[in-house]
Amino acid sequence: MVKIAKILFPVAVPEPFDYLVPDKMKLSIGDFVYAPLGTQSKLGVVWGFVEREDTKKLKQVLEHKRARPLNPEILKFVNFTAQYNCTLQGSVLRMVLRSHKALEPSPDVTLYNPTGQRPSGLSAARKRVLSLADIWPARAGEIAKAAGVSSSVLGTMTKAGLLERFTAPLDPPFAPPNPDHEGRDFELTPKQINAGAKLQALVQQKSFNVALLDGVTGSGKTEVYLEAAAQALRAGGQVLILVPEIALTQAGLKRFFERFGAEPAQWHSAMGDAARRRVWREVHNGRARLVVGARSALYLPFADLQLIVVDEEHDGSYKQEEGVIYNARDMAVMRSKLAGAAVVLASATPSLESLTNARSGRYHHVILPERPGAATMPDVALVDLKEHKPDAGRFLSKPVIDGVTEALSKGDQAMLYLNRRGFAPLIMCRACGERLKSPDTDSWLVQHKRTGRAVCHHTGYSMPMPTACPECKTEGALTPVGPGVERVAEEVSELFPNARIEILSSDTAGNPQAIRTRMAAMASGEIDIMVGTQMVVKGHNFPHLTFVGVVDGDLSLGGGDLRAGERTYQTLVQVAGRAGRADKPGRALIQTHMPDHEAFVALAAGDREGFIAAELSMREILGLPPYGRLAAIIISATDAAKANEFARKVLNAAPRAEGIEILGPSEAPITILRGRHRRRLLIKAEPKVNLSAYMRSWKSRIRAPHKIKFAVDIDPQGFM
Ligand SMILES: [Zn+2]
Repeated sequence: MVKIAKILFPVAVPEPFDYLVPDKMKLSIGDFVYAPLGTQSKLGVVWGFVEREDTKKLKQVLEHKRARPLNPEILKFVNFTAQYNCTLQGSVLRMVLRSHKALEPSPDVTLYNPTGQRPSGLSAARKRVLSLADIWPARAGEIAKAAGVSSSVLGTMTKAGLLERFTAPLDPPFAPPNPDHEGRDFELTPKQINAGAKLQALVQQKSFNVALLDGVTGSGKTEVYLEAAAQALRAGGQVLILVPEIALTQAGLKRFFERFGAEPAQWHSAMGDAARRRVWREVHNGRARLVVGARSALYLPFADLQLIVVDEEHDGSYKQEEGVIYNARDMAVMRSKLAGAAVVLASATPSLESLTNARSGRYHHVILPERPGAATMPDVALVDLKEHKPDAGRFLSKPVIDGVTEALSKGDQAMLYLNRRGFAPLIMCRACGERLKSPDTDSWLVQHKRTGRAVCHHTGYSMPMPTACPECKTEGALTPVGPGVERVAEEVSELFPNARIEILSSDTAGNPQAIRTRMAAMASGEIDIMVGTQMVVKGHNFPHLTFVGVVDGDLSLGGGDLRAGERTYQTLVQVAGRAGRADKPGRALIQTHMPDHEAFVALAAGDREGFIAAELSMREILGLPPYGRLAAIIISATDAAKANEFARKVLNAAPRAEGIEILGPSEAPITILRGRHRRRLLIKAEPKVNLSAYMRSWKSRIRAPHKIKFAVDIDPQGFM
């Protein structure tokens, strides 16, 4: 028998491969190695060891890479993620190993600093260098560029004693957060202190604990979970705070800085390679103690993780829908379990799954019942659009217009919410009735007036807005149908010509800097009316905002999504919660055609319990989560007949099992996407069924022919 190393590579492979280990090589689990894969030598990770007799065909490990190994915890987490979500182990490892360079120590760079000497009679070039502010210490190239001098000037300035030269790591460590810094200019309320103490006690146990931090919007959840973070930092551990949209949390980052006197390490998809490498390395060696990141930060190789916070745990963006399909909220709970750490799920509108777990005692339930100080919850009312019809071609009813007028007359701010980008969601020809469709996807083109284009929001396809109908060629007959934020902003600017109006959506403020600028302008009162998509929803404090109008409350109710009611309720509570902070009471009006829908009735009555009870009883009758579990199989092919045929084969391959119900195959809600025809099977399972195991066994029986794709989605959310 020969001892064999099992090596997993960060590529699309289902499991580790076996390799011989050279005699003198001492390997341990988690070590990085180079080994032959195909014709290449590839970086992989030692996943385990086995004894084997037949080793004739095995290749040898080529090199043991000297780098800090991955810890067993993250290996187990990779295995769990792959198993639970029915996906490839190698693909999950690739989420962990994003940057190979991060395995090397940071290279050193040469930096310059002024010595403080500034004799008279300096040359113009030398003066320009010494008068640079906010740049030091800096690299030669940066200084030369900023001062408009050649780099040789720096050498002579160093010789003359004006600059000093030294070497430092290119990727410096992060400043350590100080848990006792307390730089905030306000005090926590007794209720916040009490909730913080409860979370701290859980962190102190240094064992797996889940807490649902359940607090109304504006109740100070962030301040409370930062106390839990302080506890983990005091104990020498690392803290991960997951947020839905990193770009939108600049206000949040400021709070981290105030609380701990240091910027946290940030992790998100838009960051460059250098920043990525730095964070990965510092997390891996345990020096980055506080990380704030989007969902993929969960796959960073923490050395001593003691707390994960999932902020806005109900948020749909925790679900990754492409590549490895997973829900970061659920995976965070498992990551904590493997690390023996605490996890805090925070939300003003917790998911029904988390609430049920909290009420059954599986999770600790920490409740923050009120806003601090004099701040009260906004007064929410419905506007029945059948009764208060907006004028033809208009989208705002009289009560909403009056609400904006009132806020502005008091010198306050107003916000109008519509979760639709662009000018109009549909472009129709008045002459022949043609609707402009995306060429390769089953969706309407959306008119964007600012860019003058017609855009497919599913694929990003766009074309210049045509002047004539592509079907009947009539000039000037194409008409926008329905509102997007641009159109609402246009209506508002006609109604309030003197108001300062801004749009906030991913089109109009695409980059984090632009979003930050607009948020700051809103917070400081430089904007009177903000018209925005869901980007406005997440966790901002606008002290002068006292009126929120929801243009189309019904929007998220369509589409046959089982969570539509829950999602509508959550979004609208969050939107309405933007109004009235500090000491100004707020008001929210929701325009709807369905004032009798239980989500709206509950919203208007402020009756969260009533909504939850009604929603849960509906789910129980239908056997839907949390009373049952769901999975989906999405099949796609370039040919509709082939998609149908393969979908039937997949159905026929389903293993027989108790407590499983299979619906479909049917057309997926987006039937054609990028030219591929999509079919869907929906699997409903009773709670006692191990759904992941069932889906794995089913998947193992399926062989997809060339050019046909299929993917398993456990606990599907989006229903695309
Ligand atoms: Zn036409």
